[in-house]
Amino acid sequence: MGNYAVKKVIDFCYGHRLLDYDGKCRYLHGHNGQLEIEIDTGTLDALGMVIDFGEIREIAKGWVDEHLDHKMLLHRDDPIVKVLQEWDQPLYLMEGNPTAENISKLIFRQLRAMGLHISRVSLWETPTGCAMYSED
Ligand SMILES: [Zn+2]
Repeated sequence: MGNYAVKKVIDFCYGHRLLDYDGKCRYLHGHNGQLEIEIDTGTLDALGMVIDFGEIREIAKGWVDEHLDHKMLLHRDDPIVKVLQEWDQPLYLMEGNPTAENISKLIFRQLRAMGLHISRVSLWETPTGCAMYSED
């Protein structure tokens, strides 16, 4: 049995910092992140596609643009949250540290919940560093 896969690339910008981290990532800073959304299947639809690229873009880019793009992604226990909220800064609060791994998982779970049967999410946090998340 063969297997088909498609991948859609989505760019977005975000800021973050890591709690309890002994390095420069403990300070507020930002990334031009590049997201890769992968979908695979054993069979194609009637049009000969895994899924229309436009459909991935609409769902995935739509959610990312609305919730993560140009926002500060922070651990919900980060003490700086209160200060940034007072200054009306756009935030997205996470259960754990906003690492590329946890952001990948967040996006994976969110897109699956929105009905996109993705097989893997990869987040290039820098041009040379990428985290990936997948589930069965
Ligand atoms: Zn960073």
